[in-house]
Amino acid sequence: MGSKTISVLTSGGDAPGMNAAIRSIVRAGIGQGMRVLGIRRGYNGLINGDVFEMNLRSVSDIIHRGGTILYTARSPEFRTEQGVAKAVEVCKDIGIDGVIVIGGDGSFRGARALSNAGIPCIGIPGTIDNDISCSEYTIGFDTAMNTAMEMIDRIRDTAQSHDRCSVVEVMGRRCGDIALHTGIAVGATAILVPEVKYDFDKDIIERIRFTQKIGKKHFIIIAAEGLGKINEITAEIQKRTGIESRTTILGHVQRGGSPTLRDRVVASEMGCRAVNMLYNGQGNKVIAVKNDKLIDYDISEALSFKKKFDINLYNEALKISI
Ligand code: ADP
Repeated sequence: MGSKTISVLTSGGDAPGMNAAIRSIVRAGIGQGMRVLGIRRGYNGLINGDVFEMNLRSVSDIIHRGGTILYTARSPEFRTEQGVAKAVEVCKDIGIDGVIVIGGDGSFRGARALSNAGIPCIGIPGTIDNDISCSEYTIGFDTAMNTAMEMIDRIRDTAQSHDRCSVVEVMGRRCGDIALHTGIAVGATAILVPEVKYDFDKDIIERIRFTQKIGKKHFIIIAAEGLGKINEITAEIQKRTGIESRTTILGHVQRGGSPTLRDRVVASEMGCRAVNMLYNGQGNKVIAVKNDKLIDYDISEALSFKKKFDINLYNEALKISI
């Protein structure tokens, strides 16, 4: 027999589309005859019993909203054995038979600890960076890329008017996927990502000079957050090329906003699958996208993958952005 009372929490960094996943979990869960509880502020809410019953209308009017109606948090206490033990007690007191955790790899480690302590958990990948090792796609990535693209289009207007070079930092601490995709979409002269070592002269200055020779007058350089030193990069470009150069750090605008169609649909699908898995008595699993289809892995297996960077796409981007 499957779980009777399931619950959902969001953990780690928020991402547009998390609400669509919550909505899908509540509606699918109730549709299967289960009670669905919402847990506020990630694992902190579970430890503190900040839990409430959700109904079909608790999730009305949220599919198009960014952020997460359940709030999110990082919980240092949950990283300890005592923290996990407290959460298990709360689950037993309230009668929670399963937890769906929407978050990143860190949140999945928490879900594994809770599963191992006897509470079945299912992880759903949600983070704008697309930096979850087991999944080709994570909820929020499409929205974040589209936001970054729109913002850079605006920056381009003014860069063009002034014949400037704009150096734009997009999100992605360990993962250059937002930089790569937006870099292609805006025709960036150089794309700097944590996965590929770059040579300042060859990969930035020479590319600017080459495109300048063939008529380009304004330049966009995209750098992933993980690179750091963005102001130094900008100053050095100006010094070496004489082109007036400006830095823009897009920052948290990329985290918010109404989720795109893709994020709403993927989140909805993943929510339904997670509910079915708990209903069927499964736990200790993470849902992922592989070859554009949903699959699931045991959490330990999911955490053992190494994120692959699409180097072919990166090389093609360099070929055409001239
Ligand atoms: P993300 O889920 O986006 O990777 P974090 O790495 O900050 O974000 O993890 C979110 C939360 O998951 C942490 O605050 C902590 O409560 C929990 N967590 C992370 N790692 C572990 C772990 N090894 N054991 C138990 N809980 C963990």
